[in-house]
Formats: sequence, C-alpha cells, structure tokens
Amino acid sequence: MEQHPYWLSQALSAEQGGPAPALVSDKRAQPCIHGGDFTGLWTAILAKRARPEPDVLVLEADVCGGGGGASVRNGGCALT
Ligand SMILES: Cc1cc2nc3c(=O)[nH]c(=O)nc-3n(C[C@H](O)[C@H](O)[C@H](O)COP(=O)(O)OP(=O)(O)OC[C@H]3O[C@@H](n4cnc5c(N)ncnc54)[C@H](O)[C@@H]3O)c2cc1C
Repeated sequence: MEQHPYWLSQALSAEQGGPAPALVSDKRAQPCIHGGDFTGLWTAILAKRARPEPDVLVLEADVCGGGGGASVRNGGCALT
C-alpha cells in the first residue's frame, strides 16, 4: 500500500488502537461498496438515509476517508 501523506500519518499516530482487522469471513450486504473515500462514504451515507433498514458494507483496502486514492491528495477546490 502507498505511504500516507504527512498530515494523515500524523493524525493516525494520535489515534488509539491499530488498523481494523482484514475481512476474512463471508458477509452479505446490499449495497456493497468498494472504496471508502469520498465517493464510497457518501454513497454509503446516502444509501442509509434513503433506506435505513439494509446493511451497507464498505470495503476499503487502506483507511476509510484517507485511503490510497485521490481523496487524500486533492487540492481542496470546491468545483462543479
Ligand atoms: C492531485 C489531485 C488534485 C485534485 N484536486 C481536486 C480539487 O481541488 N477539487 C475537487 O473537487 N477534486 C479534486 N480532485 C479529484 C478528487 O480528489 C477525486 O475525484 C475524488 O477524490 C475521487 O474520490 P473517490 O472516492 O471516487 O476515489 P478515491 O479517492 O481514489 O478512492 C478510492 C478508494 O478505493 C480504495 N480501493 C481501491 N481498490 C480497492 C479494492 N480492491 N478494495 C477495497 N478498496 C479499494 C482506495 O484505497 C481508496 O480509498 C483532485 C484529484 C487529484 C489526483
């Protein structure tokens, strides 16, 4: 996995506990979302708001909200 940016490494070092354990058992969920950065987390929130009953599963290979993708590297500009 890629190295995290400095700000994220610093924030994570102040957290209690270690990384979440890897998923090793079978899980069933509808929807199942791959990727826990901007798109995946917002999809999960909106899916839960639309219908609170179903289980929403987010699979993230790194850190939710700060994974290996573009969400931790963007310029912070609010574009259309
Ligand atoms: C340099 C740069 C600057 C940018 N600047 C701006 C800006 O100023 N304003 C703006 O609005 N947008 C900007 N963007 C675009 C914006 O950051 C992206 O469109 C947005 O972050 C994409 O979010 P995402 O959740 O779809 O994807 P990502 O952030 O890429 O997230 C994908 C996630 O999926 C996970 N993943 C990948 N494979 C797997 C797998 N097999 N299993 C589980 N998890 C997996 C990754 O670890 C990651 O967490 C910029 C992008 C870049 C690269």
